[in-house]
Amino acid sequence: MEAIRAAAERTGSRYLTGAYLLTTLEPCPMCTAAAIWAKMRGVVFGVTQLDARQWAAEHPDRTFTWRQIGIRARDVARAGHPRLDVHEEVCREECLELFPLTARHAPVGGGAKSG
Ligand SMILES: [Zn+2]
Repeated sequence: MEAIRAAAERTGSRYLTGAYLLTTLEPCPMCTAAAIWAKMRGVVFGVTQLDARQWAAEHPDRTFTWRQIGIRARDVARAGHPRLDVHEEVCREECLELFPLTARHAPVGGGAKSG
C-alpha cells in the first residue's frame, strides 16, 4: 500500500498504468486489490504466502509484521479488472534469504504477534 501510494504521489496520478509491483513476499489481498485499482500491469514476488506460513511454523520464537488473510494474489487478480499479471517465485531463493530480516525475536515470555 505504501509503495503504491508513494508512486501515485510521485507521478501525480492515482493510476500506475503499465507499472509492476515488485515485492519480496507475496502481496496481501488488500495490496493486490490496490494494484488492480491503480490499473497496474502486474505483481512480481519471490516468497509465497505458503513459504511464509512454513517459515513461521519453523520459527515460533519470532514475531512477524506480515500476517495475511490467506487469499493468494493470483486469486485476487483472477477476480479483478483490469487483470493483473502475476509472476510468482521470481528469485525465490534470494527472497527466502532476505525473508528472516522481516521477523524479530519474540519478547521474552511470549506475547501476541504483531499484525
Ligand atoms: Zn498488503
